[in-house]
Amino acid sequence: MTVHNPATGEVVGTVPAQSAAEVAAAVRELRLYQPEWEAMGADGRKKWLLKLQDWLIDNTDRLADVVQSETSKPRVDALIDPSFAVDLLGYYARRAGKFLADEHPSPHSPLGRVKRLTTAYRPYPVVGIITPWNFPLAMPALDVIPALAAGAAVLLKPSEVTPLSALELARGWAEIGAPPVFAVVTGAGETGAAVVDSVDYVQFTGSTATGKRIATACAERLVPYSLELGGKDPAIVLADADIDRAAYGVAFGGLFNSGQVCISVERVYVEAPIYDEFVDKLTAHVRELRQGADGREPEHELGAMANEAQKNIVARHVQDAISKGARVLTGGKATGVGTFFEPTVLVDVDHEMTCMTEETFGPTLPVMKVADEAEAVALANDSIYGLSASVWTGDKSRGERVARQLNAGAVNINDVFANLFNFALPMGGWQQSGVGARWGGAEGLRKYCRKQAITTPILPTQQKEPFWFPYSSGKLVFALSAMRAAGARGMRRLGVFDVINTVGGKGK
Ligand code: ADP
Repeated sequence: MTVHNPATGEVVGTVPAQSAAEVAAAVRELRLYQPEWEAMGADGRKKWLLKLQDWLIDNTDRLADVVQSETSKPRVDALIDPSFAVDLLGYYARRAGKFLADEHPSPHSPLGRVKRLTTAYRPYPVVGIITPWNFPLAMPALDVIPALAAGAAVLLKPSEVTPLSALELARGWAEIGAPPVFAVVTGAGETGAAVVDSVDYVQFTGSTATGKRIATACAERLVPYSLELGGKDPAIVLADADIDRAAYGVAFGGLFNSGQVCISVERVYVEAPIYDEFVDKLTAHVRELRQGADGREPEHELGAMANEAQKNIVARHVQDAISKGARVLTGGKATGVGTFFEPTVLVDVDHEMTCMTEETFGPTLPVMKVADEAEAVALANDSIYGLSASVWTGDKSRGERVARQLNAGAVNINDVFANLFNFALPMGGWQQSGVGARWGGAEGLRKYCRKQAITTPILPTQQKEPFWFPYSSGKLVFALSAMRAAGARGMRRLGVFDVINTVGGKGK
């Protein structure tokens, strides 16, 4: 398969389309080494994860080159890919010991006090990770790192559009001399399907349509999964907002990485009293943005779209809006050679238009005037998706109140993406935007583990427990009375006579 620079069309690499047999062989190999990786414990694994962190830091510049070669992103955006991974590595490498430590819960009943109770976090042996093309290094790294930290072996299948950066991650893992518990397979959907068919847990990021296919395949195998899917994130700009900050923030939230971010601002609702001023400021700011193909110097805010198909979706949404009465205040069309689409502000939009209901994943900002907060909330919630949202207001408690009315996995007040950069928080979508959380706090590692319950006697054990075979009425009265006394409330604890009646066949 050939990999292209989307700005120039130049071929920048080729990778094999790996078969189901090759995928199965890779999984067999990973299974061999995983037990040792798990046995090493979180502290042993930390050493390798921090070495990978060093490798990413040492190679950041070169990695940004690779990211740019297959995406034609601005230099700044390309540098964010490895830096994001460095940050997450620091978080999970250092905290994995705490997050995965055995827990010893108190017994629920006095009868349990004779045991030491342990919940152990034991990784799924092989985790399959399937990623999209918008952040070709960060997307894989953000899932690979927690899964490795949890003690799983990992098979990664990156997008066929941008596999080169993911291969660099595997190169880094090999160069630091880490155990062979991380491998990459390349190919398109069939290779991804083969991964789903052979691993023990699937972490997927991509479209809702593919996510549903993966969920179905996982259900057939009874294999657990976590899905991060599409979004149509609303920004709500309330009349008491700092209008300048809201305009700059919404522009960045909608246009960063040319809008090819799962949690990018996809639609904007503005309260009527500030609508005109907000739209003027937003449009003026968007007109100032520079678009083009960066080299190693940051010269542009927007680059090309990652591929032709995505550019065509954006063009279709804009055309649909125009045909139904929307106005383009700036941008609105593809430009030049390559996959550039101008940063675009659309007004006079409504929910009859695809730009307000379907995921665009491009550099468009459709802005709609609303009468008040209630209308903004109702429209924001009028979506099959529920990934994230932002609320812009001068009153933080009002912002939090609105947040709690929104159907979204994350809400940022007076900001965009802030939840993404706070790894202690869950990163996951509601409704058609996903199942489970991708990472976040202890759960971000524990999701890759099966919980194992272990009971260990505290007192010396006798030859037999009193209620083991053979049965007798006396034993039964004793056992049931003890359970009743431990579990019931008030006088009902003293249910010995009921129990005797039951045993004697006189009960109800
Ligand atoms: P997009 O191309 O818009 O990112 P997709 O959801 O089609 O969205 O692709 C995301 C990832 O899922 C890619 O790595 C792709 O190869 C992979 N993929 C596509 N179809 C399947 C499938 N049926 N099973 C597993 N992975 C798939």
